[in-house]
Amino acid sequence: MKKITIGKSGKPTVPDIVEIPFIEGDGVGAEITPVMRSVVDAALRKAYGERRRIEWKEVLAGQKAFDTTGSWLPEETMEAFRTYKVGIKGPLTTPVGGGIRSLNVALRQELDLYVCLRPVRWFRGVVSPVKEPGKVDMHIFRENTEDIYAGIEWQAGTPEAEKFLKFLTEEMGVTKVRFPESSSFGVKPVSREGSQRLVRSALEYALERGLPSLTLVHKGNIMKFTEGGFKNWGYDVAENEFAERTFTMRRYDAIKKERGADEADRALETARKAGRLIVKDVIADAFLQNTLLIPEEYSVIATLNLNGDYISDQLAAMVGGIGIAPGANINFLSGHAIFEATHGTAPNIAGQNKVNPSSLLLSAVMMLEYMGWNEAASLITAAMEKAFEKGRATGDLARFMPGGVTLGTAEFGEELLLNL
Ligand code: NAD
Repeated sequence: MKKITIGKSGKPTVPDIVEIPFIEGDGVGAEITPVMRSVVDAALRKAYGERRRIEWKEVLAGQKAFDTTGSWLPEETMEAFRTYKVGIKGPLTTPVGGGIRSLNVALRQELDLYVCLRPVRWFRGVVSPVKEPGKVDMHIFRENTEDIYAGIEWQAGTPEAEKFLKFLTEEMGVTKVRFPESSSFGVKPVSREGSQRLVRSALEYALERGLPSLTLVHKGNIMKFTEGGFKNWGYDVAENEFAERTFTMRRYDAIKKERGADEADRALETARKAGRLIVKDVIADAFLQNTLLIPEEYSVIATLNLNGDYISDQLAAMVGGIGIAPGANINFLSGHAIFEATHGTAPNIAGQNKVNPSSLLLSAVMMLEYMGWNEAASLITAAMEKAFEKGRATGDLARFMPGGVTLGTAEFGEELLLNL
């Protein structure tokens, strides 16, 4: 029995010898994936001797799949992720041409991976554009299935756009489209179910780890029913399902209104002292400013798809850029999870032994943590930190480090094995 199973709680049960499907990835995938595998294998040996091990099962997707099978995303690959529950992937080329969905989107939709989880922390030694990158320690829960990303849009000048405009004006009485004849239209669906399952998973994650706060980031001041709905539904989950363990700033505002600011401050202080998770909200543009000014005020972030896209990249840049930012797409209810390099196939440096394997490697660290194999995960992050502190890294990071030594992808992998 080498397969991960998922219990009722959505938590994985992992056998000591476990088969994990992986997609090598296109472009630089062929360089980062072997480094990731060898470092993970070495960390497992170091942490558990012969007791625990991963048997890697390659599944095909992207260019490699197309060249060998004629399909960009073969059914066997989908089936492997369905069956094995947890897997990891390198970057995939988005096939050019009409009618072909992005492979990443296809995988996410097929397994309903509703959380895009991006932890963002700084590693000592990595040069950052901000003064105190050590204050950045956030966990972004980006909603992965709704919002403007649902792909419901019509191009200006098409019969569909015309039909939609007619519906808006004639049936819905909309008069606010500024230039109706030349407008394209997009639809932004945001549901209570979709918002609440995302926020519920983020709350559980924060509570399990004893993190101090969860912030709902939204543009509810402008989009009252979609973004504002997300905020209100998020607060509802915290207050209705986690009442004993959280304190919401919506509750704070209600106390303030009823009984005054002093009473509200006292309630907040009592909740803090009792170790309750503080649930707050902030408008997305203010949040982006605050991440630069007061990053220490934020821990877990729950947000909709488009905001999450911008936020992930800005926060990644604050701690060293996309070469080092890990990520995962997870369904916390079914337990399905795909860990992935967050960057693309980097065709401009592919095959040159230049690419930084850290994004995929840190995604593997997230995967080990998800599996409960924390000892091996910590060994890998410690080995990486040791290399960075000595100024030894791939060129994307080493070029900014004082006295930095540029290592090739393979040599950086060797360095980590040595540190392990
Ligand atoms: P990209 O992320 O591949 O590259 C952007 C820039 O960052 C390039 O200069 C590249 O050299 C650099 N870079 C990226 N990763 C790096 C790393 N690990 N180390 C050092 N430098 C790194 O983005 P792109 O050029 O816009 O996209 C190329 C292809 O990748 C496209 O086909 C796109 O659709 C695909 N893509 C896939 C994914 C994915 O599979 N998750 C994500 C983004 C883009």
